[in-house]
Amino acid sequence: MGLKDLGFYVRGRLNSSLAAFLNAAQPVPVTALPLDALLARAHPSPLDYVRLLEGRSNADRQDTLGRLLAARGLPFSRLPFATFEGSGENFVVEVGRGTRTLILVGHHDAVPGSPGANDDGSAVAILLDLLARLAQDPPRRLRVRLLFTACEEIGYLGARCYVKAVPLEGIVGVLSLELCGIGDSLAIWDVVPPLDQAPVIRVFAGVLEELGYRRDESYHLVGRIPVFGSDHRAFAAPGVPAFGLTVVPTSEADALRQFIFNPLRTLFRQLVRRPPPFDTYHTARDRSSTLEPEALERVSRALFALVRALDTG
Ligand SMILES: [Zn+2]
Repeated sequence: MGLKDLGFYVRGRLNSSLAAFLNAAQPVPVTALPLDALLARAHPSPLDYVRLLEGRSNADRQDTLGRLLAARGLPFSRLPFATFEGSGENFVVEVGRGTRTLILVGHHDAVPGSPGANDDGSAVAILLDLLARLAQDPPRRLRVRLLFTACEEIGYLGARCYVKAVPLEGIVGVLSLELCGIGDSLAIWDVVPPLDQAPVIRVFAGVLEELGYRRDESYHLVGRIPVFGSDHRAFAAPGVPAFGLTVVPTSEADALRQFIFNPLRTLFRQLVRRPPPFDTYHTARDRSSTLEPEALERVSRALFALVRALDTG
């Protein structure tokens, strides 16, 4: 285990123990949507997918997502892994063709005691919604790989195992979706040199402008985020252009900046007043009833437009 891995591991352990401790006193009276009920819907909404996962145990979330993907009849791969840190199953669905690959990541696990709606049911839901669009109208000169990881909350373990197991050539970009269910501004983060020069950043910014977003108002390219992290960091470590993608309320931009870039406050984030979307983050309150359907849909639309732009560009 390298130093970097050790850092990821320790961070993940702290994350999980702290959440387990703080959420222990609060029971989680959330009933997930049964898989059969979801499959009975002709066009499930992104929020339906969140409700499919919320409140389930991690083993159940993984099992349910696997059964959903199997039921859809699309080819997908199950990539199980097991290390001393933990074990789980990553799922991969790929659409399109060509030598260039865009990887979009959402983790299917949640911290203990949290229903895991925004973190990170929102991401899984958006990717499933996007998959439905892409399956109808796949890109011709681009592969889009949807990676549903296990054990993100254990220091990105699923993503780290994935990165070690697959070739990384031809990856034009990785976006890890994290907390994408509350708000109206998009933040692309960990945009740091030299990866900030990657064409995928320029293309994504152009796409957002075309959709009516404005830089530093309704979309933000943000540098290295302290304390928080997501699966993309497992890809960024060996030099792949990989970034986090999060939705935040425009009205909270200043409070968020203060909260995120003040490492001490962030470190004790469980104890201070946290601006949305961090007020429910890793707590028993992270339920689908707090999510905004429009937030989920705006990310799905933006990613679909990104795929189009990379496919034709
Ligand atoms: Zn997360």
